[in-house]
Amino acid sequence: MRCDLHTHSFHSDGILAPAEVVAHAREGGVELLALTDHDVTDGLDEARAACAAAGIRFLPGVEISTTWEGMTIHIVGLGIDPAAIILQAGLKGLRDVRHERAQEIDRRLAKHRIPGTLAGASALARGAIVSRTHFARYLHSQGYVTSIGQAFRRYLGRGCPGHTPTVWVPIEEAIAWIQGAGGVAVLAHPARYKLSSGKRRKLLAEFKAGGGHAIEVVSGAHSADDARRFAQFAQEFGLEASLGSDYHGPLEAGGSWARPGSLAPLPPECTPVWRRWAA
Ligand code: AMP
Ligand code: MN
Ligand code: MN
Ligand code: MN
Repeated sequence: MRCDLHTHSFHSDGILAPAEVVAHAREGGVELLALTDHDVTDGLDEARAACAAAGIRFLPGVEISTTWEGMTIHIVGLGIDPAAIILQAGLKGLRDVRHERAQEIDRRLAKHRIPGTLAGASALARGAIVSRTHFARYLHSQGYVTSIGQAFRRYLGRGCPGHTPTVWVPIEEAIAWIQGAGGVAVLAHPARYKLSSGKRRKLLAEFKAGGGHAIEVVSGAHSADDARRFAQFAQEFGLEASLGSDYHGPLEAGGSWARPGSLAPLPPECTPVWRRWAA
């Protein structure tokens, strides 16, 4: 079954409406789709309806921001009930953290003689959550950088003038919210975290011990070699495997995202996390 279990709409930092994400997934031949916006579930009703109309199976999802040993780690929840109070209360807390952080990024960039970035980023977010991606898009629109990647490298990433250390929630807590909402927890794009091999093992072991179910083996953020390595980690740690493009829209200044349905299949030794929904 061709699936894509990690995508974003403009309810977080994607560019498209949920129904447009579904249309692109359909063009890519996707048969099972999850919408997984950062820290918010507002796009799920529209995506569910669009999937029903397009004949695509739909999984409600979310991508939760967590902090582990001072590092931001993303945990995708799949098959969640968005009405679950434990999940919504948790996500609301993260959006409050985001709000505080956005104000601090604005202050830090203003000190660096770049004023008005919160207003600019908020306008681009159109009332949805403000992420660093919106700051990056604003910096690009004003000519401070030539690409979104450069905005992260020069202004928003670690060691940069706008970098604002943020404490999200512990991984176990995000997993508890996901499980409380009837979903399964998936470690997003594990190759993207810059970790020593010892720490990577520690992360995988703690994720598993905390109730984590699967890791993304094939991801828009992974190379073919990453997929092979993480297929082995999945086996070693008794974790199932997921696949997701991390699609944020068709084009981004200075780059583009993997299109839904465009990724290689999982390596054959993997157990697909979507088995439980594909039947
Ligand atoms: P936030 O959750 O607000 O900290 O924003 C994180 C988001 O920024 C990620 O979900 C990515 O979509 C995007 N992002 C992070 N690093 C980069 C990068 N180097 N280039 C482009 N986008 C990035
Ligand atoms: Mn994002
Ligand atoms: Mn992510
Ligand atoms: Mn994502």
